[in-house]
Amino acid sequence: MNRLRLIRDNLDRVHEQVADAAQARGRTAAPVTLVVVTKYVSAEVVQDLVQLGCRDLGESRPQQLWDKTALIKNSEVNWHMIGHLQRNKVQRTVPLVKLIHSLDSLRLMHTINSAAAAHHQQVHGLLEVNISGDETKHGWHPEELLPLLEKMNRFPHLSVRGMMAMASRTGGLDQARRDFVKLRDLRDRCQAQASNTMRLDHLSMGMSRDFTVAIEEGATIVRVGSAVFTGVTR
Ligand SMILES: *Cc1c(COP(=O)(O)O)cnc(C)c1O
Repeated sequence: MNRLRLIRDNLDRVHEQVADAAQARGRTAAPVTLVVVTKYVSAEVVQDLVQLGCRDLGESRPQQLWDKTALIKNSEVNWHMIGHLQRNKVQRTVPLVKLIHSLDSLRLMHTINSAAAAHHQQVHGLLEVNISGDETKHGWHPEELLPLLEKMNRFPHLSVRGMMAMASRTGGLDQARRDFVKLRDLRDRCQAQASNTMRLDHLSMGMSRDFTVAIEEGATIVRVGSAVFTGVTR
């Protein structure tokens, strides 16, 4: 089978699973955005995705994001920065992205706010939470977030729109579900405390192996890579 058809079939399957899970959650739930994570594939494969109608693409490394956005000249594509963003890479990244999923320190937020001001831009971001407690992961620990919310009002060019997390690598789907519920509860508590200043509408959670569970638990954004590229030569 050629590459385009293979990707199309994979995408169809993922879209169907997203729709089924969203439906299981109920009619009144918020819609779910599928971000296709392109970190495994070349710019050629990204072209295939764009041709197939994908409009939300994610990269976890700034350099890869810069390279791919330079090659993919399609203004309809929304790029998502989903991995750790070093402060010295903010200036160049900010004009390229629709949403930064990986706000993980006040210093980073300060730097993004300044860059956004310089570009006369409003940047949108999500607070990355280290929900599994895995020490190798970036993100805030759940209990340190509440006391910091007030400080986040100091960034007029950076709108905090929700939270992002990854389920623990080990532990299977039941553990993933517990992690996702934990993130949703934390979001609800933070929203209650910051109701005057923030709209934490988005939960970016769920990857290839657990995105249907994440949607059942309230994800509004899922970040899916490998499931879209099964069998594809990268
Ligand atoms: C790689 C990556 C994904 C996608 O992972 P898959 O398991 O391939 O779907 C999602 N989120 C982040 C932050 C990633 O780095």
